[in-house]
Parts: sequence; structure tokens; C-alpha cells
Amino acid sequence: MHALTEKQVRRSLVNCSRSEAESMTLPRTFAETPWEELVVLGWRDPRAPLRGYLVVEREGRPVGVAVRAADTRMSSGTPAMCLLCQTAQAGSDVSLFTARRAGEAGRNGNTVGTYVCADLACAVRARVEIPPWLRERDPEEVAAERTAELEQRVHGFLDAVLR
Ligand SMILES: [Zn+2]
Repeated sequence: MHALTEKQVRRSLVNCSRSEAESMTLPRTFAETPWEELVVLGWRDPRAPLRGYLVVEREGRPVGVAVRAADTRMSSGTPAMCLLCQTAQAGSDVSLFTARRAGEAGRNGNTVGTYVCADLACAVRARVEIPPWLRERDPEEVAAERTAELEQRVHGFLDAVLR
């Protein structure tokens, strides 16, 4: 994705009030974000532990959603899968996140939820963590496919938030 400024990231949030967008904290490593390697920027709010954000490019402009992690976590002994990057992990590394829907639906309390990597670092994981059954294939090709699928699923999640 194209590099974004802090202001662009705040403005991209579609399901936040202005004051919520202002109180959002960027990732500590924001200045070093490897934009060209990412199809989605995801992070947990360093100052509000249950809050997180996903920002993606949609029709040439950044669109972000604020999500909230469930305060209960799955046990580390339970296998779980992130439904965005489809990486199988320990249950403790996957969290149920809910997003308030944009506009009136959200103001009426409507949310959408999905299971996502607890650190929201799906873009990195899609490239780096190749499932065992795909390890005989060309790693770059697999990473490209996983990344394209991740992007599609993030847009699917955004569709539900914006609907
Ligand atoms: Zn993930």
C-alpha cells in the first residue's frame, strides 16, 4: 500500500467519532512502517489494550476500521485460525474482534465480529508463515497468493462494516 501520514490514518477511520479517531494511538514503529510490503496495516492501540485498527487501501484511498478485542481469550492449548490471514495458531494468539458498523447502524449498536490474529499483524504473517501443506511450492508464489486472499478477506470484513 502507499505510505500514509498520521493524519491520513486518523481520517481513514470509518466507524469512529472524531474524538475517538483523535485518541487513537499509532503503532510505536509507525515511522518505520514497510508500506510497500503491506496490503493492510493492523495494530493494537498501545494505550488502549483492547482497541485495534485495520487500515487498507480501497479504490485508491485509505479506509480504516477500529476494532475491539474480546476481553476473554481462548486457551493456548486450543488451536485456532485467523479468519483474515488463515494462519493456524494457538488460541491465545487469535482474538475475537468486533467492529462497530459505520454510520447509523453503528450508532444503533450494530457490530460485526471475526477471529483475527491478536496482534493484527496479518499482512506479515500471510507472507512469512507458510502452512506445512504449501511448503513444497514456491514460497514467493504462496506468499503472493496468501497476501491476495488476505486482502480480499479484509475487504469482505470492510464490506460488512460499511454495509
Ligand atoms: Zn491473521
